[in-house]
Amino acid sequence: MTEKLAETPFDDDALHEECGVFGIFGHPDAGALTVLGLHALQHRGQESVGIVSYDGMQFIAERHAGLVGDAFGKTGQHAQKLKGTQALGHVRYSTTGGSFARNIQPMYADLAGGAIFQSTSDTEAIIHLVARSGYRQVVDRLIDALKQVEGAYSLVALTAKKLIGVRDPWGVRPLVLGELDGAPIFASETCALDIIGANYVRDVEAGELVVCTKDGIESFRPFAPQPKRFCIFEYVYFARPDSMVEGVNVYEARKRIGEELAMEAPVAADMVIPVPDSGVPAALGYAAASGLPFELGIIRNHYVGRTFIEPSDPIRHLGVRLKHNPNREKLRGKRVVLVDDSIVRGTTSKKIVEMVRDAGAKEVHFRIASPPTTHSCFYGVDTPNKDELLAHRMSIEEMREYICADSLAFISIDGLYRATGEAKRNAKLPQFCDACFSGDYPIDLTDAGRSDKQLSLLAEVA
Ligand code: SF4
Repeated sequence: MTEKLAETPFDDDALHEECGVFGIFGHPDAGALTVLGLHALQHRGQESVGIVSYDGMQFIAERHAGLVGDAFGKTGQHAQKLKGTQALGHVRYSTTGGSFARNIQPMYADLAGGAIFQSTSDTEAIIHLVARSGYRQVVDRLIDALKQVEGAYSLVALTAKKLIGVRDPWGVRPLVLGELDGAPIFASETCALDIIGANYVRDVEAGELVVCTKDGIESFRPFAPQPKRFCIFEYVYFARPDSMVEGVNVYEARKRIGEELAMEAPVAADMVIPVPDSGVPAALGYAAASGLPFELGIIRNHYVGRTFIEPSDPIRHLGVRLKHNPNREKLRGKRVVLVDDSIVRGTTSKKIVEMVRDAGAKEVHFRIASPPTTHSCFYGVDTPNKDELLAHRMSIEEMREYICADSLAFISIDGLYRATGEAKRNAKLPQFCDACFSGDYPIDLTDAGRSDKQLSLLAEVA
């Protein structure tokens, strides 16, 4: 299958996480638990879903376009096929390789030599390096392959006898180890453990490779150590607020961002309203620190989902109304502090400010829970080219004018670090990856000039 999957035409001004992974080893309900785990990780990728299980004799793969519920929820027939006690699943939003059905993960291979690429995804490149490795044992082959690539990844691999989880040496993306009835689990976030009643054991550490077999769990550190650079944007937007990420509750971090923002950029106003849903915790924090009332001035329609129609240009601008509608009674005649997580191209921000003003707000003061996004991400997040980012093209005052707000302020980078529990950003060796705000990329962009937006993971090999 090589058809292009449908796009989401009304939602093109947001950042998209690349993927979520979930794997479990040694549980009689492995397939069904993986379906549930992926449900909880749906926010990390809505384009496609895939699960592979192993029944002791053979691998069974189910890969589908669309949401987990669409693929595995309605009749359950696909989930029932996933027999066996070990399973691995993936939800995807394409960043490398494009939206082709053949790129849906997990990817499966018999480890023979030779290299015929069936997809355009960077993950397949790793499978080929594993296949071509001269080592005999699969763990050695995987280590050999990963030593040849460079980039940000949290990988989970399933073989007939092992479930393996590994994080890149900088630990850019999250990966946690959990346990249910003695069966080990890897998941992108703790919310995937909660949904199945599993226990959180610990985070897989940066540069760590963890191997689960029927005899237990073994940890390896096969890579040259690097300074930890976890993605700070996970706290702002990507991770689910009920997840614990690197020991920090995401909801609390977002509220603290709002508190910092209120201290850094106060304004005389009548109320604080979030752009739902991602602006809600920061708006709560802003309201608490400023003493202003928190109100739901914009209501989000949760049932829009992915819109598979291709809109004509005359109605494309209605997209924002599909998702958000102003609560006119609350807004009329009021001075409003509007809180959102980020500004990307600025097109949605402009429409939302306009919508709130049209609903009767007297003043609109826009507060952003992240520093200006001035650079593209090359580590697993789908961002526009730098030139399309509003903050790259304009000063804050020009941005304010563009989105027609009465005032505009972003949290400072130190304020964001404080919200995650750090005293301030260490300018010499930042504690996080914050490259989309600072341009300080922790992993060399050796092939960033290529047509793909993401690094190919093949920097040293291709
Ligand atoms: Fe996260 Fe930004 Fe770094 Fe990408 S560039 S990993 S979004 S902080």
